[in-house]
Amino acid sequence: MWYMKRRSFDTSRCAVIDEFVDLFWKHRDRSDPRPVVAGYGHQFFPEELVAACGLDPVNLLVGGSEEWQTRGMDYLTPTSCVFSRQMIGLLEAARDGRHGLPPVKAMIHSNFCSGDWHSMEAIHRYFGVDALTIAVPYKATARALALLAGNLRRLAGELAALAGSGVDEGLLSRSIEQARRLQNAASRYARLPVAGDRKLRDYYEIALAPWEQRVEVANRLVETRGREAGGSGALPLNIVLTGSPVLVGDKFSSLLDALDVPVRFYDFHFADQLGLKRVPAGPGDLVALKRHVDFTDPFQVLAAYYLEVAAPERMVQGVVDHLNERVRAIVDYVRFLPDDQAIDGVVSHVLKFCDVYGTDRTPFKARVQDIHGIPVLDIERDYSASSTGQITTRIEAFKEMLVARKKHADVLE
Ligand code: SF4
Repeated sequence: MWYMKRRSFDTSRCAVIDEFVDLFWKHRDRSDPRPVVAGYGHQFFPEELVAACGLDPVNLLVGGSEEWQTRGMDYLTPTSCVFSRQMIGLLEAARDGRHGLPPVKAMIHSNFCSGDWHSMEAIHRYFGVDALTIAVPYKATARALALLAGNLRRLAGELAALAGSGVDEGLLSRSIEQARRLQNAASRYARLPVAGDRKLRDYYEIALAPWEQRVEVANRLVETRGREAGGSGALPLNIVLTGSPVLVGDKFSSLLDALDVPVRFYDFHFADQLGLKRVPAGPGDLVALKRHVDFTDPFQVLAAYYLEVAAPERMVQGVVDHLNERVRAIVDYVRFLPDDQAIDGVVSHVLKFCDVYGTDRTPFKARVQDIHGIPVLDIERDYSASSTGQITTRIEAFKEMLVARKKHADVLE
């Protein structure tokens, strides 16, 4: 067991974690915390399973600290991804200080990417963080399904032991149902004419609320934002931000707002992707695995979701063309827009040395632009302030091009 203890370092470092901690407590009772199991920040964190075992799942959606990523270079090569280095800095700081989070029982980590795998090894060895591992195959096949379902069962046993409970398949099925209800709420939210940093913050709030309250928190935000938006339907531009997720503490989204390029769809696993992706309820929700899943077994259902639906960007080619799946998802956001609107542009955001979003960035851009005619701005960044000037110039030029293009299209109509 490890603990996040009270901090003892400077304010810039704490601004990132403080924002996260505030959101964490927003819907929890400080006087009655439950044991937390933390995720590494990306989508291979089976929160449904953690919650079904009676633990509090909290994904560490923390990003943007230049200082922490520099500290991470003491443990990983400089060509490791920026986020994985930052996680080392974060966990090193957590070992030395206290941030106001309750005790964290363990972290779940996976082979989502090399960054996760390697940095968690360092975090486990050097900072004593207990790590529960879940290995997820890179192809959606019948054999991979059996392997992953078995891994999830093993993980459930480990989680139940941590919680002092047993594995209850009925509770897991109910937890999966709740995931589907959350996905429905997210698709209602995605239809609202809300954009920019405020929208991203709403998604952070939902993702960091206790599992059993998330649907309610999401529905409340749908109501509030719907009222605020009133009858206004159209936004000047409909931009999708995709790629390496922008997490709590990262100022990239507010930079886009400041440049008057508010994002309409955040194509991240905890944000608008929730409205597009579903935990499969029957064979019709799957392609590659449709004949192989026993839908009475919640472990197989979860395995199919993580293999085929959750993250096509980290899979290798199989029955399904996974790059096409990712491109299709971007184009699919149009279903949340009124009939007379379209996706105007895509910002593809890649953190330096990210093997998941970095590898396919050129073919991704080519397919979105050439096949679907949607302009793509490809941006690679680290968390350093020094690159902001150049990035700002490129975003401004992209916006001008999109505005001119839209005006031209309006004149021709
Ligand atoms: S930035 Fe990319 S390589 Fe790094 S942890 Fe995230 S997905 Fe993995």
